[in-house]
Amino acid sequence: MTASIIIIGAGMGGMSAGIYGQLNGYETLIFEMHNKPGGQCASWQRKGYTFDACIHHFFGCKPGTRVNEMWHELGVLPRNLVKVKECTAVASPDGKTFLDYYDLEKLRKALLDLSPADAKMIEKYIRLIRAFRNKRVDDALNNSSFWNLLKALPALLPMQKWLRMDMKAFSTHFSDPFLKKAFALLIYANPDAPLFFHLMRHAGGINGDVQWPAGGAYEFAKSIEKRYLDLGGKVHYRSRVDKILVESKKAVGVKLADGSEYRADIVISNADGRKTILDMLDGQFINDTVRGYCAPLQDETPFAVDVFLGINRDLSAKPSSLVLLLDPPVNIAGHQYESIEAQLYGFDQSMAPPGRCTIKVELTAGYAYWKKLYQDDKEKYQQEKQNVAERVVDILDGYLKGIKNQVEVIDVCTLTTWERYMGGTQGWFNLPNRKIEFAMREDLSDKKFKSTLPKLDDFYFTGVWTTAMGSLAHNALSGKTIIRRICKKDGKKFQGKSEPISV
Ligand SMILES: Cc1cc2nc3c(=O)[nH]c(=O)nc-3n(C[C@H](O)[C@H](O)[C@H](O)COP(=O)(O)OP(=O)(O)OC[C@H]3O[C@@H](n4cnc5c(N)ncnc54)[C@H](O)[C@@H]3O)c2cc1C
Repeated sequence: MTASIIIIGAGMGGMSAGIYGQLNGYETLIFEMHNKPGGQCASWQRKGYTFDACIHHFFGCKPGTRVNEMWHELGVLPRNLVKVKECTAVASPDGKTFLDYYDLEKLRKALLDLSPADAKMIEKYIRLIRAFRNKRVDDALNNSSFWNLLKALPALLPMQKWLRMDMKAFSTHFSDPFLKKAFALLIYANPDAPLFFHLMRHAGGINGDVQWPAGGAYEFAKSIEKRYLDLGGKVHYRSRVDKILVESKKAVGVKLADGSEYRADIVISNADGRKTILDMLDGQFINDTVRGYCAPLQDETPFAVDVFLGINRDLSAKPSSLVLLLDPPVNIAGHQYESIEAQLYGFDQSMAPPGRCTIKVELTAGYAYWKKLYQDDKEKYQQEKQNVAERVVDILDGYLKGIKNQVEVIDVCTLTTWERYMGGTQGWFNLPNRKIEFAMREDLSDKKFKSTLPKLDDFYFTGVWTTAMGSLAHNALSGKTIIRRICKKDGKKFQGKSEPISV
């Protein structure tokens, strides 16, 4: 008899579990609270402009890696991919711009032009990027098996000192004041971000592993949904799961918000971990470790407020990602900003009508501030969103003169928007309080990959709650890993590929 699986949520992990479930002979059914697939992998249209709230970097574009193979299995690849010329750019109010080019000769020249006195450190930076392009390091990052890590050691050991640094610490090695500021902000304008991640991303951009999926996040998610439906999977939209049904300490189905009940042999949750554990399962299957994962999140959240602009201007010659240094710092909605980062989508013509461009500015902000505004006074909340957009447009106008008069569409989303949209604890944030897992492992060891709950059978998590990583690839891989585990438990040989993969 075919075993059945109910999956809560059509995010990366949920749809991937659905696809690998179908490939392995399970009958799967996804319940998704929203009216479309993707979860955090979200974009939408306003008057011909596409506003993408998710993807900056799509990892796994380089043929021959496990992640690339998975994207083919999930129907994401092949697709139209766009290579941009720089990782990030940083501009100062006095007119200096640093373009962190992928082309290392151009990069060297750009840096030396800005600060010849930093020549030694500039060479070091370029050597570090080159080290990450080393085939063995690349193999270890894409498949961190013991042997791959061992083979990469000769290349990794000399970098030891640098790999432990964050961007802020790295930036202090430059003497030029502008470069000091710029280097600290190269990853999402976050000085605490690890240098390791920046080097991986930079090398990935050169190797072609990191690119942009043309059309943005929703097109990306739709291609996975299509693959799932083509394999015979079923998905019910506008179907919020309220409870997971449990009998004799075994998950046996779900109860939806409308009261209807559905039964299955196995239940997989791709929904917010805290809500799954504490609400859907009434906190019954918990121990100290899991309680620790559910501890409250910090209030300050990156990508908390997104300002989207549809601009009647061709910005295709501008950098794809631009950090603007603000001197003096600017106060927006009670928060002090020393810089803001804008994504300029001129590199993808499909994101805006001809001759126009979409811009996104993502701001770190406090969750409580926006939640209170939304709960207390919807009009004030809308007004504050408008105020934030106006402040952001003013700042952009300082760099892109005249843009103020070219704004055709404004849309602002906050963590409260995300919360309504996909039910997370604090908007899109669905991370457990535990250490993140960096490596692109296909089968993460049980010690690190927490996909089950104590004393509850036939229940699994997939997605961010298991990986603790904000990454399309990791969370899609988690769906594959869960089905592999279920197959192992059922004594089945796991089927990873249904047809030859054309790469
Ligand atoms: C602002 C931002 C930028 C990002 N940038 C990048 C990037 O550049 N590169 C990259 O690789 N990754 C990026 N990520 C991370 C990546 O998008 C996520 O890690 C990934 O999409 C999460 O997948 P998931 O499997 O955890 O599912 P989620 O996206 O968390 O989806 C969960 C799904 O469950 C549904 N759901 C929740 N509760 C219920 C319920 N009760 N009943 C039914 N359905 C329910 C939700 O509606 C949602 O569809 C970004 C994320 C964000 C938010």
